Amino acid sequence: MNKKPETNCECDVCKSRCRRRVGWFLPEQVSKIEEFFNKNISEMIGKELVIDYWASDDLILILAPNIIGNHNKQMPFKAFGQCVFLDPQEKCRIYSNRPYECACADHNTDKNETTHEQIAGEWKDSEILKGLIEFEEPTFLDGLDLMFSLSPYSPFNL
Ligand code: SF4
Repeated sequence: MNKKPETNCECDVCKSRCRRRVGWFLPEQVSKIEEFFNKNISEMIGKELVIDYWASDDLILILAPNIIGNHNKQMPFKAFGQCVFLDPQEKCRIYSNRPYECACADHNTDKNETTHEQIAGEWKDSEILKGLIEFEEPTFLDGLDLMFSLSPYSPFNL
């Protein structure tokens, strides 16, 4: 993967992302996160961390910061919410170890989706998250719920 340069932008637009949707880690960041918290990621999943996914031909599991209110090991299908690492002063509590996707995102870059897919590619052959959760397939109602969330009438798009 051709890595994008990291950014240090802390404008309101960038901070608002942390209130709405978290960025994704790269597999190579896992050991640094474990070192930072002095815990194994299996102890943190469902608490500080969560397993998100990318569905293409294969289902690819990806590590992410958890969102407030989610106590499951799996990211909710509607993956919107405030990052657990955003502190009351709107600073990132893991800034030096923030997910690669957070580190290279800013309001001047292209849409995040390119990076999202590239990061999923990095997790494709990784064994790190295998066996840590029983992945639950989204239901039809989950799909409807997400469609509403992404519609122009949704509060998530304001
Ligand atoms: S890890 Fe830090 S930069 Fe990334 S979404 Fe959470 S608070 Fe924001």
